[in-house]
Amino acid sequence: MKKLIVANFKMNQNLNEAKQYFTKFVANFKGERANVIFCPPFVSLSLANYFLQGTPIKLGAQNVNEEEAGAYTGEISANMLKSVGAEYVIIGHSERRNKFKESDKLINKKIKTSLKNGLKCILCVGESAIDKNSGKTSEIIRKQLEEDLKGLYENELESVIIAYEPIWAIGTGNNASVKDVEMVAKIIRKVIYENFSEKASRDIQLLYGGSLNEKNYQALLGSNGIDGGLFGGVSLKVDSFLNIANSVR
Ligand code: PEP
Repeated sequence: MKKLIVANFKMNQNLNEAKQYFTKFVANFKGERANVIFCPPFVSLSLANYFLQGTPIKLGAQNVNEEEAGAYTGEISANMLKSVGAEYVIIGHSERRNKFKESDKLINKKIKTSLKNGLKCILCVGESAIDKNSGKTSEIIRKQLEEDLKGLYENELESVIIAYEPIWAIGTGNNASVKDVEMVAKIIRKVIYENFSEKASRDIQLLYGGSLNEKNYQALLGSNGIDGGLFGGVSLKVDSFLNIANSVR
């Protein structure tokens, strides 16, 4: 089965840079080993959609508002994202949980609104360094998953991908070990089993994210129970990301 490779550009790349990036990526992506989803900033979604149309590469956003429409100055709705070609949205990234104080309750609402509007969700969960060092990884991951996925029907889980992104590994150069990733993948599948079903726990796609690079991605994405990766910093370097997307096993 092909690996799923997701790029999170965060608040990087203007329109001109995006144009150069997507021109090169589309021309050189072989598509034999990976399914790819790009999550550029909102302002580049339309342009990215233009370049990605007719290719197997999919488009996602990095955030969405939990309401359908209305007086929410500066916000973007799920329906708007669909209309510019996004099929996915990242929800619950640790930068949004921590820097923008997004709660599990809000994340749950964002997931429900996104699913209702036909967007697939890439839900990020992960523990802090303090949680890890005090042996609370399992407890934190369970709490996030149970609150974020509360009230979802089992068939809706088919439109949810879960990314394990330990906070201490994001943007730090300090990636998790294969052992850590395999342990958390087991925890996630157990929580899905207990709250949904055996089938759901088997079928749900799990990603690892946190300081993936050209040296460590093969080993980490080869972890048991992991279906792909969420890439931040390295995804901005088109040659490196092409190498990853074309070579992943
Ligand atoms: C991310 O922000 O989702 C991420 C994984 O970032 P990085 O690869 O830069 O650690």
